[in-house]
Amino acid sequence: MTQLKIRACHLYGNLLNTYGDNGNMLMLDYHAKQMGVEFTTDIISIYEDFSADDYDFVFFGGGQDYEQTIVSKDLQTKKEELTRYIEDDGVMLAICGGYQMLGHYYIGANGDKIQGIGALDHYTLSQENNRFIGDVEIYNAEFDETYVGFENHNGTTFLGEGEKPLGEIKLGEGNNGEDKSEGVIYKNTFGSYLHGPILARNEHLSIRLLNMILEKKYGKDFKKE
Ligand code: GLN
Repeated sequence: MTQLKIRACHLYGNLLNTYGDNGNMLMLDYHAKQMGVEFTTDIISIYEDFSADDYDFVFFGGGQDYEQTIVSKDLQTKKEELTRYIEDDGVMLAICGGYQMLGHYYIGANGDKIQGIGALDHYTLSQENNRFIGDVEIYNAEFDETYVGFENHNGTTFLGEGEKPLGEIKLGEGNNGEDKSEGVIYKNTFGSYLHGPILARNEHLSIRLLNMILEKKYGKDFKKE
């Protein structure tokens, strides 16, 4: 039997890693091992090339506005390849700051515009003297799954063309505190404000992502857990 392998990229893993977002990679690694799948991770950070063909999974974590400003500049050099990766149905998970920067822009807490790459059609505004902080519970009707986590963000995100929410808010504020949406799904790219880390608190989402990655890479016939 051939050894199944997943090559993962942790984008800016040394700059964006609030609330232990790195735990998402550890969960995927743990579940992959249980499935008999080899899981390797590269951190690709500033001044390093990202090539869409090199990876089967990309993780993009959250951070403070300051780190996001640094990442935003470098991210423009990776815009073309990241967009190609997403459009080619690459599997990706982006949390909070990373989720914001896959969209058009994020207006930071001090009013400065932090440029995204517009690979996804959402945009993120700033709240005046407020942050959404607390426990969140959401429900995804298509998957019939509930996800829980912890949010802490200033940004309010509004989804655009072709974007579906990751779930409907049952508890907490989510994307913007107005329309009951939380996170995004576009093709095989998932975005969310949920820390936790989200995959540690929602093992079923971790397994779902692994199955998507393996299906994309090896076709529909690989044996699912
Ligand atoms: N700095 C962003 C905000 O406050 C993202 C925060 C985060 O990644 N936790 O909205």
